[in-house]
Amino acid sequence: ILNKDYFIKVIEDLAVLAEEKKDYFSELDSAIGDGDHGMNLSIGFREVTKNLDSWKAEDISTLFKNVGTALLDKVGGASGPLYGGFFMKFGLPVKGKEEVTFDEFIEMMETGVAIIEKRGKAKVGDKTMVDTLRPAVDALKAAYVDEKLEPKEAMKKAAAVGSAGSDSTIPIIAKKGRAMRLGERAIGHRDPGSASSTAILAIFYNNMP
Ligand code: ADP
Ligand code: MG
Ligand code: MG
Repeated sequence: ILNKDYFIKVIEDLAVLAEEKKDYFSELDSAIGDGDHGMNLSIGFREVTKNLDSWKAEDISTLFKNVGTALLDKVGGASGPLYGGFFMKFGLPVKGKEEVTFDEFIEMMETGVAIIEKRGKAKVGDKTMVDTLRPAVDALKAAYVDEKLEPKEAMKKAAAVGSAGSDSTIPIIAKKGRAMRLGERAIGHRDPGSASSTAILAIFYNNMP
């Protein structure tokens, strides 16, 4: 069971991450994009932090809808509507609930990643955040449903698979996003969105009871 305190702590840690890794994400984006990925996340999560206390009485679904709306409203780049969409839809499967089962958590992850895929139309291998998120969610299902691992162990595996997915963006060209225009010059560089997605998955894992 994952309760509301878990999800609030995740959101707080996401805001800390956006500050701590701001320069790192922007440096990655400088190599193959416009150098603002860290700044974009920082702007979005500062808005979240500003409002989080006033959202804490909401149910899990509304909490994340508010997070997603803040990102969507404040972040200018491609990552705004993508991560904004992820968090806006993340709580849809558990509307009105104050705690969720791990089966429901997996549904939440699937719903969030599906909206990123729908909005961005990127597939695995296009050198985007989807290269981290899709294999991670698939691994999460396989680990929990098929291999019957404990929830935290399943999430650990999912985070590791997502991290490997980010590594897999290094040697390839981009088929979506700004890096697309670089063609072969994108080779040798990690996709910044895949890096931030890896860090986000680690936060969901680290806070798990
Ligand atoms: P922008 O490129 O508009 O400056 P950011 O720098 O914040 O926005 O985010 C860039 C990241 O967004 C990329 O590294 C990539 O992971 C992700 N991205 C860009 N376009 C897409 C897309 N169509 N589908 C999925 N992810 C995408
Ligand atoms: Mg950028
Ligand atoms: Mg930009």
